Amino acid sequence: AKAKSRGTISIYEPEMDQQIRDRRVLHQELSVAIKNGELSLYYQPQTTAGASAAESSVIGFEALARWHHPQRGFVPPGDFIPLAEESGLIVEMGEWILREACREAASWAVPLQIAVNLSPAQFTHGDLVGLVHSILLETGLTPDRLELEITEGVLIEDLDRGLSLLRRLKALGVRISMDDFGSGYSSLSYLQAFPFDKIKIDRAFVINLGRNPQSAAIVRAVIDLGHGLEMSIVAEGVETEAQLGFLAEEGCDAVQGYLLGKPAPIGQYAELVGGGHLLETVRKAG
Ligand code: C2E
Ligand code: CA
Ligand code: CA
Ligand code: CA
Repeated sequence: AKAKSRGTISIYEPEMDQQIRDRRVLHQELSVAIKNGELSLYYQPQTTAGASAAESSVIGFEALARWHHPQRGFVPPGDFIPLAEESGLIVEMGEWILREACREAASWAVPLQIAVNLSPAQFTHGDLVGLVHSILLETGLTPDRLELEITEGVLIEDLDRGLSLLRRLKALGVRISMDDFGSGYSSLSYLQAFPFDKIKIDRAFVINLGRNPQSAAIVRAVIDLGHGLEMSIVAEGVETEAQLGFLAEEGCDAVQGYLLGKPAPIGQYAELVGGGHLLETVRKAG
């Protein structure tokens, strides 16, 4: 292997070769993960913002991808989603995730909402609107139960195209939410430019509620701003009753976080969805 040289100093770092090899292997393994049934979805509840967790009721779930590698074990999405994005695999993977989430939600006896994350590559490659439309038809999920979560990075590349895509998606009857609000650079201008239905306040602000007054001021302002734009507000990463109490007091519409429930296989939430997992088990077996 060649030593890496930059400027006047050359440093040979064997760990770097190892990292590149690991990465290449991981790419290959990821490319067969779907076919091998190693990907699955976990579901995390979103609830109303009640005065306490006990007084908050479930309105839907966010689907979160999981990769159970046969040797490496659990690989977190923060590691494999960027890898899938780099290699273009995310298009195929994103399609599997969307179909799986819609099929799961369509099997529930209780018509709760299902939120699915979209990657930038899904916006720039292929026919996203056509895909969403056909998956809705195929699974029988009514469009008003589906919510697509996107981060501002998704729209950054081509604003006109982004806007047109969002409008066409909304015309299908699905909702669009802006994920990780406040974590990027242009969140405010995006709110003005794009027809979001919902804002998800980034966990970073929620964590600091009660720790610093700035976070409380920002969260309060975002709630007012969103409501002024007729968008609903979800706070992410709610871990304590104190955080929930503050958010409820400030008029936040919904919350998500470990306090209300961790991401888990849907079987763990069977009672909430009305035993849909039983149908699912039967469907998989048959
Ligand atoms: P995200 O969309 O912002 O998802 C929320 C993340 O916060 C999830 O991490 C969730 O497990 C975590 N979380 C939820 N509540 C709490 C809490 O109270 N405390 C703490 N500390 N964390 C909480 P996860 O599942 O590891 O996913 C990480 C990221 O990977 C997601 O961030 C999303 O950007 C991406 N991702 C996950 N699944 C998918 C997918 O199906 N498609 C795409 N494109 N991206 C995905
Ligand atoms: Ca999300
Ligand atoms: Ca988020
Ligand atoms: Ca995030």
